[in-house]
Formats: sequence, structure tokens, C-alpha cells
Amino acid sequence: MDVSRFVIEASEAESMANQAGLSVKDLLSTLVGSSQKLARCPISNFSVAAVGLGSDGRIFLGVNLEFPGVPLHHSVHAEQFLITNLSLNLSPGLSAFAVSAAPCGHCRQFLQEVRNASKTQILITTDESPKFNPLSLLLPIPFGPYDLLDEETPLLPEPHDNRLKFLFIEDTTKPCNLSNGSCELYKKNRHLLKEEALKAANNSHAPYSGSPSGIALMDCEGRIYKGSYLESAAFNPSLGPVQTALISYVASGGGYGYERIVAAVLVEKEAAPVMQEDTAKLLLKVVSPKCHLQVFHCVSDSDSDSIKKQ
Ligand SMILES: [Zn+2]
Repeated sequence: MDVSRFVIEASEAESMANQAGLSVKDLLSTLVGSSQKLARCPISNFSVAAVGLGSDGRIFLGVNLEFPGVPLHHSVHAEQFLITNLSLNLSPGLSAFAVSAAPCGHCRQFLQEVRNASKTQILITTDESPKFNPLSLLLPIPFGPYDLLDEETPLLPEPHDNRLKFLFIEDTTKPCNLSNGSCELYKKNRHLLKEEALKAANNSHAPYSGSPSGIALMDCEGRIYKGSYLESAAFNPSLGPVQTALISYVASGGGYGYERIVAAVLVEKEAAPVMQEDTAKLLLKVVSPKCHLQVFHCVSDSDSDSIKKQ
């Protein structure tokens, strides 16, 4: 079966499954082959697709993304794309997914951030006799959020509210200094761009460092794509906000080349233990050299209460 979209509505998934004489869960593996064509992997040329079933009945796709010119750890794995896609679309959970290659150790770890991760059903389409197995079989002695967080802390892809607000009111009388010819578009959209970046920071999963952040990208047509920083209990598999915003760009049909991205706003806390600004600049400079990045700092409600008391 052929798909070219990254989200399939529950009713459509149901009718596709009926047509194929399958359950929606068994439909997943039939969508993997065509989804691999959506991967952007110019370094490895090894395309990976993960097709997942959200607990709301929608089907979500994930593919791998690679970025020539920056170190390999900036790459996005298909399973990470899938989880981010669920989070971007406010799906409450992931029940199963089919994937074209065995999930690597990095992804088995990243998947631990999903609520009830051990029960997530996984089918590897290239297995000799493909069948669904729980994640607990692929990672039998896990380390994860349950080792570090209380049960009330939201996990992925659950909604988060980090209760962040901007630290300063921006001086909007300052002249626009975008040198890429997108000043008018930026001026028209900058309020929205900032608000979307703040929303992304508010939905950031950063319970381990307390350093939530979010970014919003604008393309040359004024379309906006937002991404939240998503942490892993094991730190290294964490996904930066530029990567998740690029996932949103790819999943929303933002075009093949990232150079269409002309402006970006990053929102993060000032002097937080984890800062994104330098890495975001580096990655954006490589994927879209003319993109103008602006950074705004934010505080959480609890931070501003303690500032007032000082
Ligand atoms: Zn992986």
C-alpha cells in the first residue's frame, strides 16, 4: 500500500484496513515499504521507516533524517521521528509500530520515554517471520524515566505545560536586519513565530535537566513549523529542538530542501544547565545557510516567583 503522508486519520486507517482485510495493527507493516521512500538519508542511503498506531486510532509515520556537514549525532532516527510526530499531533500514546530494520540501541532507549514503553508492540518487517513483540523483549533490563521521575511527570507523547513566559517584552521598534530578503515576511509573522516557539518550549519534555526549549521555523512562504526539545533519561538519545522542528517541516510537506527556511525563533531559559543556542545556530547554518535565528529567553512561573521575592 502506498502512503505519502505522515498522519493517517483513524477513519481512513480503518477503511484502508477493511479494504485489505486486515486489522489496523496488521496494516502497519504493509505501509512500511512505501514510507521508506520518504526518508532523507544522503549519508547512509539506508532508508528506515517506522509506522505506528496511536492509542487514538491514527497512524503515524517516521523516517530517518541525515544532515551532511554536521556530526552524525544530529541525525534523526525513524523511531524518534515517529514519537515526535505523535507529540506534534497531540496523540495520547503509542500502542504498536512496524519498522523496516531492527531498532538500534539508541532508539530502544529513546522509546523508554513513552508511557508504558515496555508494552509497546514492535514488528520488524525484515525479520524472517515478522511478528509483534513487546519492547521489553528488545530491551529486557531497561533504564528509563521510572528510575528518575515520579509517576505524575508527563512522558512522551503526552502534553506538557512547562508554564513558561517571556522574560522581557521585545522592543519591536528595532529595525529588521534579516539579510536574506525576507524582512517583510518576518515582520508580518514574527509575533506568531515567537508565540509558536514559546508553545513548543511549553510542550518540551525536559524533566531531567529542567531546561525546556522550543523553536519555530518560518519558510519563504510564511509557513511556520515548531519543534520541542525532547530529553531521554539516558541523555545522549535526546532530540534537540531544531531536529524536532525539521521533523515538523518534513512531516508537514515543507518541501525537499531545507534552504526554504528563512527565519527561526528559539525560546529557552537564560543560563539553564542545557542551552540550545549554539548548537541550533550550527545546525541551521548548515541546513539553511540564509536562515536568520533569533533567541528569546523565558522563565517559568516558579522562577518568576523567586525573582520577585529577591
Ligand atoms: Zn535508531
